[in-house]
Order: sequence, then C-alpha cells, then structure tokens
Amino acid sequence: MSSFEIVVVGSLNVDVTVDVPQAPEAGQTLLGGDARRSGGGKGGNQAVAAARLGRSTAMVGAVGASDGEFLLSLLRGENIDISGVRQVEAPTGQAFVFVDTEGDSTIVVSPGANDHVEVDRELVAAARCVLLQQEVPAAVVEEAASVANGIVVLNPAPARPVAPSLLANVDVLVPNRGELLGLAGGVDRGDLVQLAQNLGTRGPVVVTLGAQGCLVVEAERSTRVPAEQVKAVDATAAGDSFCAAIADALLDGADIVEAARWATRVAAVTVTRQGAMASLPTKDELA
Ligand code: ATP
Repeated sequence: MSSFEIVVVGSLNVDVTVDVPQAPEAGQTLLGGDARRSGGGKGGNQAVAAARLGRSTAMVGAVGASDGEFLLSLLRGENIDISGVRQVEAPTGQAFVFVDTEGDSTIVVSPGANDHVEVDRELVAAARCVLLQQEVPAAVVEEAASVANGIVVLNPAPARPVAPSLLANVDVLVPNRGELLGLAGGVDRGDLVQLAQNLGTRGPVVVTLGAQGCLVVEAERSTRVPAEQVKAVDATAAGDSFCAAIADALLDGADIVEAARWATRVAAVTVTRQGAMASLPTKDELA
C-alpha cells in the first residue's frame, strides 16, 4: 500500500452559494442571485491546500451517490488519492451559503455522508502527517488520532467539546480564538497563553486571530506572529490553508514558529481571493 505525506480525515461538501439582499430572517422567503456550486468542507479544503503546496496527499472521507462524483473529480484533479473516500447511501454533505451585500455569510451545513466516514487505519497509520478537523463524528477524529504514527494536527473547528484523550494524541492544535475559549470551558477572559497551556495537548497550540495573525503557545514560551498586510476580500478557507501550511512546514523540519510564519504567508494569499478551494495558492504562486 502506498503511503502519503499528508492524510486528511474530514468532511467533503458541495457549497451552494447564493447572493442575497440581506441575511434571511425566520419565516422569510428571499429572492437571491444564481446559485453557484463549488467543492468545500474543511477536510476537502485542507486536502486541496496540502496538495497545492506540493505534498502527496490522501483524503479519507465520504460522499453520497448524487454529487459524489463532482467532489471526487475535483480531488482527482488535484492529484489527491481518494482510495479512502467511501461512497455511501446518504446524501453528499452540502453547505448552503447566503452572502449578503456586506459580504457576511449565513451558512447551513447538512452533513449527510460526512456522518458515515470510516477511518482507513492503514492509510492513517502510514502517513507522515494526519490533518484533522471536526466536521465528522468525534469518534472518527479520535480513532484517526489514536492510530496515527506521524504528526497529528487538529483544527478543532467547528467548536465542540474535545475529549482529553484526543487532546493527548494531538501534536499541534490549531484553534481560532473562539474555539480555544470553548475548549477552555467557555471562559471569555483571561490569558490566551495560559488557557492554551492548560489544555493538555502533547505539543504546541497555534491560536489563529484573523487579521491579527496568530499566537504560538509552547510549554515554555509564546510568540506572536503578525498577519501579513494584504487587501483581504474573502476569508473563506483562510484557516484551512493555514492548517495545511503548518503541516507542510513541519514536514520540512521547521519548528513551530517557522511553521506559523509560513502558514501566515499562505493564508494571507488565500484571503486576497474569492472562494474556498478556488482561493488556495500553489507552491509556485508563493515562490
Ligand atoms: P475560517 O474558518 O474562515 O477558515 P478561522 O477562524 O479558522 O477561519 P482565522 O483566524 O480567521 O481562521 O484566519 C486564519 C489565518 O489567516 C490568520 O491566522 C491569518 O494568518 C490569516 N488571515 C485571516 N484574515 C486575514 C486578513 N484579513 N489579513 C491577513 N491575513 C489574514
């Protein structure tokens, strides 16, 4: 069986995006623009980000019959191995995204097939790095982290409680501020460094802070990495490209602060472009 530098275990969605005059309210019917379909899901985005950074990448996930081929062909087109993607009876995961005139999104996610992911244990065990998020069942994430032999990177998004046994198997945790506060028990004040140090991961925590950059928290020190000054047009998938770039740099032997600087650079390009997968840069574009 072949082994991969990065194996992503996570969600695959079709994003259906409609521009609307304002965010929909309860009971309201709105007329919007033409629907646009694109590949998405945090798992799919992170796999595409990793592949574009030049890493041999495999995806572990699940799609349904309808729309499944659409997502699989997108992954194939990025040279991502899809032997770990199951085709199941449930509908393919979808995210319905309503974008108002201010550019703010209201999103409803229907997980569908993502609730039926099964961990390909051989693929995960053989990976040099395993990238995880939380759009698939907690048991899947826990199993993947426990069988991994390489570096385990967990992006705990969307926020939900995380078992201490999972955190103990995580080498690098990459939450945003809200996710960190949630993991720390809903505390909304206090020192981010201390909160991160008390989580019980076996390695560093990199807290992403949007346009403020990120905070790298290690056992003995913390380092602030400022964001790059760019004209941001769409932050979709910024966090996903950031996580893939952390993995990419760690595989090159970078330390965690160097990795965060590289991820900051990759995410900065992502925010200057519209869309999710469409906005993810290639290694050549970053050179
Ligand atoms: P998402 O869920 O949209 O993927 P997130 O909440 O997980 O995002 P953010 O903290 O918003 O992640 O962003 C991740 C990284 O992207 C930041 O740490 C930063 O490096 C970069 N970034 C985000 N917004 C900007 C911006 N306006 N300008 C420059 N860099 C940005």
